[in-house]
Amino acid sequence: MPANISSFDTRDARGQLHCLRHGYRLWRLAAALVFTVVLSACERSERSASTAADPDQAEYPNLVLITLDTLRADHLGCYGYEIAQTLNLDRFAASAVRFDLATTPSNNTLPSHAAILIGKYPHNFGVPRNGFKVPPEHDTLATILKSHGFETAAFISASVLESKMGLDRGFDVYNQDFDTHEIDQVQRRAPAATRCVVDWLKKRTGKPFFVWLHYFDPHYPYTPPAPYDKMFYPEYEGEADGSIEYICSITGVKGVPKRVTTSDDHRKLIALYDGEIAFLDAGLGEVFEILDQEQHRARTMVVVVADHGESLTEHNYYFDHGEFTYQPSMHVPLLIRPPDCDPSLVPAGVKEQVETIDIFPTVLAYLNIPSPGDIDGQDLTPLCRGEPGWNKKLCFGESSRPWAVEKAQPDQWANLGKAQFVLDYPWKLILTPYKKNAELYRLDTDPGELTNLATVNSDVGRRLYQELGRWRKLAQVPAAEQELDNIEKLRSLGYVE
Ligand SMILES: [Zn+2]
Repeated sequence: MPANISSFDTRDARGQLHCLRHGYRLWRLAAALVFTVVLSACERSERSASTAADPDQAEYPNLVLITLDTLRADHLGCYGYEIAQTLNLDRFAASAVRFDLATTPSNNTLPSHAAILIGKYPHNFGVPRNGFKVPPEHDTLATILKSHGFETAAFISASVLESKMGLDRGFDVYNQDFDTHEIDQVQRRAPAATRCVVDWLKKRTGKPFFVWLHYFDPHYPYTPPAPYDKMFYPEYEGEADGSIEYICSITGVKGVPKRVTTSDDHRKLIALYDGEIAFLDAGLGEVFEILDQEQHRARTMVVVVADHGESLTEHNYYFDHGEFTYQPSMHVPLLIRPPDCDPSLVPAGVKEQVETIDIFPTVLAYLNIPSPGDIDGQDLTPLCRGEPGWNKKLCFGESSRPWAVEKAQPDQWANLGKAQFVLDYPWKLILTPYKKNAELYRLDTDPGELTNLATVNSDVGRRLYQELGRWRKLAQVPAAEQELDNIEKLRSLGYVE
């Protein structure tokens, strides 16, 4: 049963609560409280690579960052999903450090990716959700590595990350050749993305490089090609087809007429989601093949991570990820293979809670390049090496929806009224100010986040309420400039409310 947010309103904190008055009364939580792409297309987008002179550049390892859009951790074989068909990722995971409790600070594609590349929470660089331009004053992995003489390239597979959104800074190549022939396919399929990056990797001649490869396949629509479309539920004979229209019709969101669906229909959609993941995994095979070649294996660091997960009916949230901060949307796979890594020395699976913003200082530490002093991420190298030196940290994150809430508070951080969480495993507190709602879960005994203990364990709840309040107090950056021309593409991806 949901608890009212005021149940944690202590005497010390109460004075810092205040309410919003924009048409209706909202809680503004208180600060202290709370493929088919041809090779020519790949080459077309290459810019001339200018490199700064750096006498030590030959010493740097390479860095490969692979981001898998909308891939929840528990649907990969290496995270225990027994029916998964993810042999390439599982094989890679066996040679890498697997983080079993990594969370993302945002369940939306652009801010989540920007957080990985900048090493900060979105409220510290001003991108609350898709459609807002990443401000140019923040260093990214690309700008830093470029300044140290790296060749840099990005291969993007969805329009929400297009160069005009600002993440192209520092990249010699920012490849974004999408297949836009179908209006609901403003994305690039895995084989096409892989073909481009493999072509680029084969041309490298010894200078250190940083390549970011973004795959979008698991994101809806769930329309994998054969045989992946029937791989997980071949006997299904209903109408569920994985299209955005069908998914929206389950609950009638975005103006789509509501239809009656059954658990079999939902199971089919999950099967299609798993089919997309299997298709993606197959598309990754050639990339891992190259990275496992001797000349790369010894001097290339590889990071595999998802930007966010996906709710597959949990909490009656159907096949989407932007509105709630439950684990299906926020718990992501994170695999790190340091350069010249000896698999026999890799920890079996890191249980500590970590965040995707920790990737930034971790890779810079391995590359022996200093991190900027103002980042939020924490260096994971002690965990990667199985050595002491790691100090447990709290994990935070927020939702990107509903948009209506941010419209009610234009002069503040746009996500302050939306669901936000703090994780101190096993405890997780979720506050949803616009609903005046507080939820406290114990993830070790209740991984499904079904039993709200907010009124039972009030001491824990109050402590986390204050921790989340301190984090929220840091959210002082106004939203960045919005790219309004992007609205039709956002609509085609199902993002527009
Ligand atoms: Zn995404």
